[in-house]
Amino acid sequence: MEGKDLIIIGAGPIGLACGIEAQKAGLSYVIIEKGCLVNSLYHYPLNMTFFSTSERLEIGGVPFISNSPKPTRSESLEYYRRVCTSWKLNVKLYEKVEEVKNEGDAFNIKTTKDTYRAKAVILALGFYDLPYLLNIEGEGLPKVKHYYDEPHPYFGQKVAVIGAANSAVDVALETWRKGAEVTMIIREDAIRESVKYWVKPDIENRIKEGSVKAFFNSEIFRITPNTIEIKTPAGNKILENDFVLAMTGYQPPFDFMKSMGITFHKDEYHTPVYSEETMQTNVTNLYLAGVVCGGLKTNKWFIENSRVHAEIIIHDLKGKMTTK
Ligand SMILES: Cc1cc2nc3c(=O)[nH]c(=O)nc-3n(C[C@H](O)[C@H](O)[C@H](O)COP(=O)(O)OP(=O)(O)OC[C@H]3O[C@@H](n4cnc5c(N)ncnc54)[C@H](O)[C@@H]3O)c2cc1C
Repeated sequence: MEGKDLIIIGAGPIGLACGIEAQKAGLSYVIIEKGCLVNSLYHYPLNMTFFSTSERLEIGGVPFISNSPKPTRSESLEYYRRVCTSWKLNVKLYEKVEEVKNEGDAFNIKTTKDTYRAKAVILALGFYDLPYLLNIEGEGLPKVKHYYDEPHPYFGQKVAVIGAANSAVDVALETWRKGAEVTMIIREDAIRESVKYWVKPDIENRIKEGSVKAFFNSEIFRITPNTIEIKTPAGNKILENDFVLAMTGYQPPFDFMKSMGITFHKDEYHTPVYSEETMQTNVTNLYLAGVVCGGLKTNKWFIENSRVHAEIIIHDLKGKMTTK
């Protein structure tokens, strides 16, 4: 078993940024990714456009050129592939990390393919793997989706979109524009304030004019092959339904993090304990990077504001290694 200075778990944009900084600092490292390169971005909706302009998504000084100021998903995939090849990053794909064991002076890392030993570990795990489940009858039916890819399959179909944040709103508008009959089921009394300011009036006006139906202060509680049942302020209703797109958000892999000894604040977001100066968790030499740092507050960190985590961590790590 070959020992490394550093193992980085996750080849999302921030895991890659950590690899670049490690390489610049002369540390031996491997980035281990359970899916394809930038796996979360790959699973975003096919027609998605980033809200950030391309230069704000750049890492490792590689220019990100896109056709419009805000790049598309496919331009971002091209870009991060290019980053990976131009920096010749040491990335292992389709290899899931299953266990990280702290053995005092080093970590033992078990994956689906191998075992590694490293002095330090960075968790750049993102939050896109575990959707919030509705936990209701019928959720397991094939017509219920927790990830959305494209509008075409929903043409001419009765689609229920659950949620009122950015993803739900984007999905409702896109499927409606491509010919679906869309009903939004929203627990709150309004579309979320955090919805992109250039999209919010669009959905609000579509709801007002009746093009997209919406039930506010309402909850779905049963799904059958042809219907959904919802609780509304005006009583329970049964609606005809072909598809349920549950855009209810995602959460970081808390159990996996706990298994490594990471502790959490007692706040509503279940924020992991880490130092903002170094990004080190309560476990020595175990670091967090990227969106995973926000716990359940998944709109706190983005690519554009968490790229900097890579430099902070490698600066701290390099300092420790040279003073030893
Ligand atoms: C629809 C959408 C639009 C967005 N638009 C923007 C935008 O415009 N601008 C912006 O800055 N941000 C945007 N974001 C947020 C941004 O995409 C994420 O913040 C970004 O993916 C975070 O990068 P990351 O590297 O922290 O995590 P991720 O990209 O999620 O990477 C984590 C990686 O870890 C891997 N992984 C997890 N567990 C394991 C394991 N056990 N073993 C091995 N690998 C593992 C995952 O497969 C994944 O590839 C958007 C997010 C969404 C959902």
